[in-house]
Amino acid sequence: MAKLQSLRGMVDVLPEQIGLWQQVESTARDHFARAGVAEIRTPVLETTELFARGIGEATDVVGKEMYTFSDRGDRSCTLRPEGTASVVRAAIQHGLLSQGPQRLWYGGPMFRYERPQAGRQRQFHQIGLEMLGFDSARSDVEAIATAWDLLQDLGVQGLVLELNSLGSAADRAHYREDLVAWLSARETLLDEDSQARLRTNPLRILDSKNKDTQALLADAPTLADALSPESLDRFAQVCSGLTALGIPFVLNPRLVRGLDYYSHTAFEITSDQLGAQATVCGGGRYDGLVEQLGGASTPAIGWAIGLERLVLLLSQLAPVTTDAPDLYLVNRGDQAQWSALALARELRQRGLRVELDSSGSAFGKQFKRADRSRSAWAAVLGDGEVEQGIVTLKALHPDTELPKEQILKLTEIDQLVSILSA
Ligand code: ATP
Ligand code: MG
Repeated sequence: MAKLQSLRGMVDVLPEQIGLWQQVESTARDHFARAGVAEIRTPVLETTELFARGIGEATDVVGKEMYTFSDRGDRSCTLRPEGTASVVRAAIQHGLLSQGPQRLWYGGPMFRYERPQAGRQRQFHQIGLEMLGFDSARSDVEAIATAWDLLQDLGVQGLVLELNSLGSAADRAHYREDLVAWLSARETLLDEDSQARLRTNPLRILDSKNKDTQALLADAPTLADALSPESLDRFAQVCSGLTALGIPFVLNPRLVRGLDYYSHTAFEITSDQLGAQATVCGGGRYDGLVEQLGGASTPAIGWAIGLERLVLLLSQLAPVTTDAPDLYLVNRGDQAQWSALALARELRQRGLRVELDSSGSAFGKQFKRADRSRSAWAAVLGDGEVEQGIVTLKALHPDTELPKEQILKLTEIDQLVSILSA
C-alpha cells in the first residue's frame, strides 16, 4: 500500500517547532490586548462569492489560487485565501459597524493553490489587524506601528518598511489610463503575464517579477505623478507621522498590493533573510471594500503577517526552550507503576508539571532520562517505597538550596507540593 502523505504544500508543525509558534501567538495576543484590539474568529469556509466580490476576479488569488468546490447542497464554497473579506463580512452581518469604529485582529490558516517553496505553502497562517471605520492619516500610522512594534516585540531584526500611496480611486483611474497607453505602445516588450494583465489588472504589472518588464517600467509614468494634491498631502502626513514615532521607512513607488480593494497607503515589511519570499507583512487602506460587500461606505486599514515566514526568521535566532517539568517520576514494579500514575495525577491537579516515566525500565535508565528532562527533582517509587508508603525525592539541579535527598510520606502531598514549587 502506498504511504499516506500530507497534500503538497500542506505542512505539519511538529512538537520540536511548536515552541516558536506558541511564542508568536502569545506575543501577538498580548500585543493586541495592550493595543485595545479585539479578536474575531470567522469560519475557514465561506461562499465563493465573498472572495470574488471582495478580492476581485482579476487577481491571481481569485483567478488561479482558490480552493473552490461545491458542497453537498450544491453551493460553491471556498477555503479562505485571506482574512480581510471574512472579517468585513462578519462585521456587516452582525452590525458591528453601527457600534462605532472597530479594531479587530484574527489569526489562522489560509489556503492558496500556489507553487510550494521556502516561505510559500498552500495552507499557511496569518495574523492580521483590521481597523474598520478609521479614515485619518493617523490611523494609517497607528496600524503600521502596531505591526512594526509586534515584530520588534518578537525580536525580529533587519526589517525594512516599504511605503507607497495608491491615491484615491479617481487618482488610480487617471493613472491606469496613462499607464495602459504607455505600456500598450510597448506591449511586445512585456512578458506574457504582463500582456494579459494589461487588459485585466494593469496596475499589477508594476509588481511583475520579470527582469525585462522591470527594466522597461523604470521609464513608465509613476503613480506618484498621478496623485491629486489632497492625496499627496495625506501621504505626507503618514510619512511625517511615522518619522515622529521613530519608525524608519523607504518609499517604493512600485509597491502595489495584489488585491484590488486598496487605496492610499500601501505598505510591506520585508526581510533580506528570506530569499525570494521576502515579505513578512503586507497591508494598506481599503476604503472601498465594506461598501463593495454590501455595507455602508466605511474607510478601513489593515495588514496581515505571514507566520511561516516570521517563524523562519525567528528560528535563525536563539532556540526557544520549553519549560522543564517540576518533577520527573521514576517508577518500577507493578504496584509502584499504578501508584506513580495516581501520584502524577494528583500533583498535576495541584498545578505542577509532572513527567511520568512509563517505560518500566531499570532505575538507572530512568534517571538518565530524568536528567535529560532538565527537571529540578526526581521522585522514586518502587514497590518497596509503596509498601512503606513513602517516596524518595532527589534533587537533580546542582543549585537547589534544599537537601539533596528527602524521604516523604506518600500521604504528605502538601509538603511534596511545597518543596516542588519552591
Ligand atoms: P506574495 O507576494 O509573497 O505572494 P501576497 O501579496 O500574495 O504575498 P498577502 O496576500 O498580502 O501576500 O498576504 C500577507 C502575507 O501573508 C505575505 O506577506 C506573506 O508573508 C504571507 N503569505 C501570502 N501567501 C503565502 C503563502 N502561499 N505561503 C506562506 N505565506 C504567505
Ligand atoms: Mg501571493
